[in-house]
Amino acid sequence: MTVSNHLLFSFTSIYDYQEALNEGTLSCRDAVLHYLDRINRLSHLNAFVQVYEKKALETADQLDNERMAGKKPGRLHGVVIGIKDVICFKDHPVTAGSHILEGFHSLYHATAVERMMKEGAIMIGHLNCDEFAMGSSNENAPVYGRAKNALDTEKVSGGSSGGSAVAVQASLCMLSLGSDTGGSIRQPADFCGIIGLKPTYGRISRYGLIAYASSFDQIGIFGRNISDIAVLLEVMSGFDPRDATSSKKPVPSYAESLTPNAQRTTVNDQPPTANRQPPTSNRSAQSFGGQGRQRIAVLKETLSHPSLDPEIRDKITEFLSDLRIKGHEVVEISFDLLDYIVPAYYILTTAEASSNLSRFDGVRYGYRTTDNEAGFPGFYLKSRSEGFGKEVKRRILLGTFVLSAGYYDAYFSKAQKVRKILTERTKLIFNEFDLILSPTVPTTAFKTGEKSSDPTAMYLADLYTVYANLVGIPGISLPLFTHTNGMPFGIQAMTNQFRELSLLQFSNELMQQYKSYEIPTL
Ligand code: GLN
Repeated sequence: MTVSNHLLFSFTSIYDYQEALNEGTLSCRDAVLHYLDRINRLSHLNAFVQVYEKKALETADQLDNERMAGKKPGRLHGVVIGIKDVICFKDHPVTAGSHILEGFHSLYHATAVERMMKEGAIMIGHLNCDEFAMGSSNENAPVYGRAKNALDTEKVSGGSSGGSAVAVQASLCMLSLGSDTGGSIRQPADFCGIIGLKPTYGRISRYGLIAYASSFDQIGIFGRNISDIAVLLEVMSGFDPRDATSSKKPVPSYAESLTPNAQRTTVNDQPPTANRQPPTSNRSAQSFGGQGRQRIAVLKETLSHPSLDPEIRDKITEFLSDLRIKGHEVVEISFDLLDYIVPAYYILTTAEASSNLSRFDGVRYGYRTTDNEAGFPGFYLKSRSEGFGKEVKRRILLGTFVLSAGYYDAYFSKAQKVRKILTERTKLIFNEFDLILSPTVPTTAFKTGEKSSDPTAMYLADLYTVYANLVGIPGISLPLFTHTNGMPFGIQAMTNQFRELSLLQFSNELMQQYKSYEIPTL
């Protein structure tokens, strides 16, 4: 290790990095030192809430020794990863950005973390987020304050996984994990000019993820290129007996099928063990890469929505025309359910949150009121009133309200019906189409404070993203555009459940064919 090594290091991809490790021009310790140095220099961005310097360096040294001793390296050998402050990392603090979890240390690893570590990943720290992942701007941050968008620190990072997005945007780690309940990966990825993937519900175990709304929550990935995201997805995916909602579906070779020479025959998302069909000549002869012509649905109402920035609409419309020229079938279909999506989402998620968050009672762990005279039930009342922030309390109250006798039918069961109708409609759409494309967010990153006094204006930032969570399908945001205001924005692509492989292949082609947003050196 030389001092210059860690200062000169610049990350392009897991593949290149591991090549350099194998050639001996770099060590895992160099990489960790590089990120520690950047985290320190860019600490004003407030992306990390905890940095695990000692542990990260120890793991790096261990990996370096193992590699030098000739041990076969894991797939994530030396990959430096940041995790959102809602994901458990054994023996380390995890707070969900809330006073209520002050002083709490994880008793076990989240399955996602455990699987990454088994493949040699290095956890460098916990990343900032909205309290209990509730928010769209990381401004609901009563403990740590918000993470700042590195492109313009007056602007929001997006939320709730704001710190996870900024960490990748500002090269404070190689990749990061977030959680996405209604857009918390795709929306900050859009605001920060990077890629954000929310997999199918149940693709990655939620064991060790602090719950917000359990039937919506999903762990996902922030990165700068599709092949890295594919490797991480493959490592973390698959059934986990500790999460009954994790899927037993086999995990395809996401990563392998993205390499330039791989046969493009796994577009049907079959696992690698399944019989592969030889490439059909008409597919491989298409002008658009190896994946061939895609049938793409565009939900008309998403583009005509009054909250959509006209410039975003124009750029996306132009982009869709270009896809047609490249040979894809792009069809605008009517989708009259758009206006129901955000209300249904907020009714169902707050209902689930009101139940999930009842465990934080000040008795067993976390914050407890110092008022010894509070008595019963005052003790609970005070601990919870003092421990939770404003938005979390608003949602617990709203969720309790929509579930209460007399209002249940008017709100909760209606929202459930909307979810059911959406699921049925989605099935029909995917009978005819491979993909749905839309803007990721109606606007680019807004100014801090601009929407914080108006929760409903803030909730509209989720207009295009909550749909995927309501119906459990995967969605990705790709940073393909730059607004004249200088900020990036993305396109969102969604496929049917467990079609991550097609989604990643299509995304890869778009990233190669279009000049994606280039983050300036920070
Ligand atoms: N912005 C949405 C909300 O506040 C989404 C949050 C999330 O995905 N965790 O609920």
